[in-house]
Amino acid sequence: MDETRARFMLDHMVIKLGKYLRVLGYDAVWDRAHRTHELIQAANRDGRWFLTRNARLPAEYPAPARLVLLKSEDPVEQLRELHARLTLDLSGRLFSRCLRCNVDLVPVADKAAVRELVHPNVWQRYEQFFRCPECGTVFWKGSHVRNTCRKLGLARET
Ligand SMILES: [Zn+2]
Repeated sequence: MDETRARFMLDHMVIKLGKYLRVLGYDAVWDRAHRTHELIQAANRDGRWFLTRNARLPAEYPAPARLVLLKSEDPVEQLRELHARLTLDLSGRLFSRCLRCNVDLVPVADKAAVRELVHPNVWQRYEQFFRCPECGTVFWKGSHVRNTCRKLGLARET
């Protein structure tokens, strides 16, 4: 299995890490409405890695087929732990996924199409925009990209 394209299910304790995985372009899901055993079942059914900080989970629940038990409480440190275990692709698909919807963004072919949707300064300054096919949000690789890369200790891509 190509772990650079691994998919993830997160329990309630590590949702922030799930957001960082989406930043990296990974398919990562969580659902506060479901109980742990339901999340494990769904992960096994979909072939997802199950991520948790609950050290007792293996003893108390049916075993996830793919499990990574994280130690740190800090999501940036958790990302390092996960990378040490699975060797994630930290740059190839950075900011290619909608952080809210967990779907791939689509490049906007002609930036005139988003002129009314972003601040005029942003529209002037950037050439390449992306759009989420689910929620319609427009993205560009601005300061939030640089700030997030710095926070996660990733190389800047812009
Ligand atoms: Zn979206």
